[in-house]
Amino acid sequence: MHRLALLLSLLTAPLLACGGAPADHGQFSALTANAGEASDLCEHEIPQDACVKCNPELVARFKAVKDWCGPHHVPESQCFACHPDLSFEPLPQPPPDADLANVSREQALAGLEGVAAPGKVTVIDFWAAWCVPCRKTAGDLNLRLQHVPELAVRKVEVRDWDDPLATRYLAGTPTLPLLVVFDAKGAEVGRISGHKPDELDALLAKAAAR
Ligand SMILES: [Zn+2]
Ligand SMILES: [Zn+2]
Repeated sequence: MHRLALLLSLLTAPLLACGGAPADHGQFSALTANAGEASDLCEHEIPQDACVKCNPELVARFKAVKDWCGPHHVPESQCFACHPDLSFEPLPQPPPDADLANVSREQALAGLEGVAAPGKVTVIDFWAAWCVPCRKTAGDLNLRLQHVPELAVRKVEVRDWDDPLATRYLAGTPTLPLLVVFDAKGAEVGRISGHKPDELDALLAKAAAR
């Protein structure tokens, strides 16, 4: 590969990995994901209320927000051909008493130290509605909340890569989600980019041992 082409591919790779796409492809909107938790899966393995094969009248809404895969004639956020790891299966749920909370963008921008739960190992989860690995990671975190005592999870929703949250915290992050793990004393233990449950367990063990 030509050096310039290699450089360009390295520069654009993070965007592609995170839901950006070539010209004839679209971008993930939240239209499919938002229907996901409230709707049963249809015969196409997609949340019934969002599936364009079951609800052709929705096509225009997906196209209006550029959530459309030209080559496959379905929303980008429903295209199993382009995104084989896409899944809308129900996620494990957190226990009712889980220490799980959404963090406002103002609070997150004020600094992550203030977000970590005092006296607990805390995972701060930067996620986006259009991010496939983020959904899988949310399921991982819910499972950990069921089984790991004294674990806190704080969710920070990122709109896109121009979001001030991304500018501040995601520079150099190759792909979402970004998990930032703090120990019970409020010190950062490490970071994970992408869906990596084994690395998460290793980092949680390290945080608990400190
Ligand atoms: Zn369907
Ligand atoms: Zn496609």
